[in-house]
Amino acid sequence: MAFNVSKLKSILFTDTDVSLAVKSAHGKLLYIGNTTVMLPEVFGFCRGVTRALALAMEAMNSTSGKIILLGEIIHNPFVNKRLMEAGVTIPDEADFKEIIRNSSNTDTIIIPAFGIEKNLEEQLQTHCKARVVDATCEDVKRIWTFVSSEKDLGRTIVLFGKPSHSEIKATLSRSLGHNCVIIIPKVASAEKLSRELTETASNKSVSLHPSKSTDPEKNGGIAVFNGHLMNPAALSLASQTTMLHSETLELTEILTDLSLAAGGTLHSCSTICRATQQRQDAALELCRENSPDLVIVIGGYDSSNTANLFRIVRSLQKSIFIEGAHCLSESHLSHHDPDSNETLIDEEMNWSEFKRIALLAGASCPSAVIGEVIRRLRQLLPH
Ligand code: SF4
Repeated sequence: MAFNVSKLKSILFTDTDVSLAVKSAHGKLLYIGNTTVMLPEVFGFCRGVTRALALAMEAMNSTSGKIILLGEIIHNPFVNKRLMEAGVTIPDEADFKEIIRNSSNTDTIIIPAFGIEKNLEEQLQTHCKARVVDATCEDVKRIWTFVSSEKDLGRTIVLFGKPSHSEIKATLSRSLGHNCVIIIPKVASAEKLSRELTETASNKSVSLHPSKSTDPEKNGGIAVFNGHLMNPAALSLASQTTMLHSETLELTEILTDLSLAAGGTLHSCSTICRATQQRQDAALELCRENSPDLVIVIGGYDSSNTANLFRIVRSLQKSIFIEGAHCLSESHLSHHDPDSNETLIDEEMNWSEFKRIALLAGASCPSAVIGEVIRRLRQLLPH
């Protein structure tokens, strides 16, 4: 199969309107009628995403065989759709093992930016005839190095992240041995964890039994593995790369207190990636310095870093989280709430009331999608 890589490259990496805004003499500003549209200092694709896509395109350029992605390369529907349109296959997770077993030496299998679970990686090493391209982000691998050594010490590893996220699943598979692993998705859940661990420390019974506790719905979002090995005096903390820095600090404090109370010390590793941090800082700076009356956060609804960008700005300004231009129309808008995981329809949009709009884009959002939103705003805003 011949892949049209140059077309894909231009779709994913370039957009005239975004380039114009970036080069604007006013500094990442656009004027649409009486409305100023602002972009932050840093936005869109991070280096991990750029590298993963570059590796995928390099593979497409150098083979005429099948290209198989073991999951979405990044969490952005626009990007994954374009890759599939270009001929890349993204099979169901349930079929991965069979696909690896049946691969041929003309195929290429790509590991996505979030990485894959350890047993799948082992299967690639032992049962795979295809060429394997590893697009796992180096920042994710840094976490694996930390959790692997903490696991070998038998410590209780706390993973701060979403249990169903591919990155956390891959990290969990490298954290779990003869030790306890606890996944907590939000700081509020840490209070429950704190109570449980305090009870453990004072030798009271622990209610987070492994069988029950792996159901996060019943445990305030907490998932526990090997709960009987939980040791509050030997806690180690690693966060998903895309969590909020402020929340990670809060959690570090809670766990430090718990460890000290149990007579131990907390081991932690700074695992929020630089790209996430830069986008969060730039978003906050833009909102604080310019007080926009609307913030539009653009990205895939499964994208953790985009959801967290939205969470930090919505406490400051009226904010909406959209997937792309198709969410915006004259009479209504369709937007997403990452906490309830619901897509909402707002039918009372009055675009003329917005004079200062900030556009933020997650680390997996291509320029093309940001550009489409700019062009849609040109249609919607009065001028
Ligand atoms: S957001 Fe961070 S961890 Fe994720 S791909 Fe980008 S650089 Fe890597």
